[in-house]
Amino acid sequence: MPEIQHLHIMNATVLDIAAGSALPNQSVLVEDGVISWVGPSSEVAAASGTQTIDADGLYVMPGLIDGHVHVTAATADLGAMAEWSPTYVAAHTARNLKAMLHRGFTTVRDVAGADFGVAMAVEEGLFEGPRVIFGGKALSQSGGHGDMRSMGASAIDPHQCCPSIGIVCDGVDAVRKAARDQLRTGAHHIKIMLSGGVASPTDRVDSTQFSESEIRAVVEEAEASNRYVCGHAYTARAVNRGLRLGVTCIEHGNLIDDESVRLFVEKGAYLVPTLITYERLKADGEAAGLPAASREKVDTVLHAGLEALDRANKGGVKIVFGSDLLGAMQVHQSQEFRIRAQVQTSQEVLRSATLTAAELIGMTGRLGVVAPGALADLLIVKENPLDDVTVLADPASSIEAVIKGGQLVGR
Ligand code: ZN
Ligand code: ZN
Repeated sequence: MPEIQHLHIMNATVLDIAAGSALPNQSVLVEDGVISWVGPSSEVAAASGTQTIDADGLYVMPGLIDGHVHVTAATADLGAMAEWSPTYVAAHTARNLKAMLHRGFTTVRDVAGADFGVAMAVEEGLFEGPRVIFGGKALSQSGGHGDMRSMGASAIDPHQCCPSIGIVCDGVDAVRKAARDQLRTGAHHIKIMLSGGVASPTDRVDSTQFSESEIRAVVEEAEASNRYVCGHAYTARAVNRGLRLGVTCIEHGNLIDDESVRLFVEKGAYLVPTLITYERLKADGEAAGLPAASREKVDTVLHAGLEALDRANKGGVKIVFGSDLLGAMQVHQSQEFRIRAQVQTSQEVLRSATLTAAELIGMTGRLGVVAPGALADLLIVKENPLDDVTVLADPASSIEAVIKGGQLVGR
């Protein structure tokens, strides 16, 4: 019989995302930020000194993990942001993190921008926010997706403290050093730009970026540190090239083909689609000054992205939840649930934002589950998202409480 606990959630229906089941009348006991026991409420004595939450009629599920965010992206104009004061960017970052936590995301994986300072600020409670799994700055070749210079500019300020989200490096030695610098400063993964992107000023979406030897050098450095490489890529050509060279996580992947699916499965690699960002670029792009030609391009990528998710899902690819929103568009983060539900079951979408995301960041059993030994990152929700995951698209009405590390997050 469990004795004194720090937190006791009682009479809850607890979701098992792996099994797709919901067990009623359960208690979740938390001690020192870790789940110590889960079982029938009838078996738990009323313990003194315990904070008790009666979750009768409510559901308890693992805290959500967003596998593709940019918490420092205070604006969609990342080129301009590179010249902002890092202190000012940090102030925006604090606000972005707090909002993500309140939307139910208790862990985020930052794939360009966040560094050890952001993660420390959260760990020490200076910033209220999700756990931050970071990769430092993304590696980009000259003229690549992380190179924010206009055609008229040639200089780059490479100082680590400038709030650019990318670092430009060319040649095996420079690329290797850039990777080592990210690892030296605590990176959980190395992010590289494998293809062009929509927003970068001088590249084409259909380009491949970095030479094979440069990509191999990054993979080698990551493997030496027991870390992994994730790559930004849209086209099958760029995705398949990256996967063959040892990149184990592909970001976006909107234009993958059957060979991509085969390679993902063969390599055990992960795909992190980010569909909401294209929907918002389509909706808000015109107001933000995006030219008509680019808006049409966004349309194609959005539609192809949903097909890619469907193709990967049916092919058994390990899929992780991601949103990739910049600046003011970040408020739409939870809308990714609604989009994915068009081609995935509720259980599949939930798995991508809990179990599979936890596996990608090396936290299996510690995050993404409501089970003894897991960190007490929990959501108390009003409806069962296993029945309809789109309830999570409106977190303000669906989430009753967010708990991170056993601490109730203030609304
Ligand atoms: Zn990207
Ligand atoms: Zn991104």
